[in-house]
Amino acid sequence: MTLKPCPCCRGQAIFADLLIGKGSQSVKMWQVSCTGCGLSTEMDEDKRYTATRWNLRQEYASLKMWITLLAALLPVSVIISLLLGNLMGISLIS
Ligand SMILES: [Zn+2]
Repeated sequence: MTLKPCPCCRGQAIFADLLIGKGSQSVKMWQVSCTGCGLSTEMDEDKRYTATRWNLRQEYASLKMWITLLAALLPVSVIISLLLGNLMGISLIS
């Protein structure tokens, strides 16, 4: 299972394991965290699942980036057309 680079800083992601509880009651939990910025997934018993979560998060992050880009681009054209419409409306009235 390969880990994709960090969605935030493109840093290297590593597995971290943590023992929760004591003795035979202890459970090994996995977490993927970034060595660059410290971004990490939630802990889970399933290492594969944790890796999937991390890799999915990366895809969501790039998807989010596109949505943000589109959201940033769209209103500008809407605002411009509104402004032009208002200006034309004003010039028509006067
Ligand atoms: Zn990072």
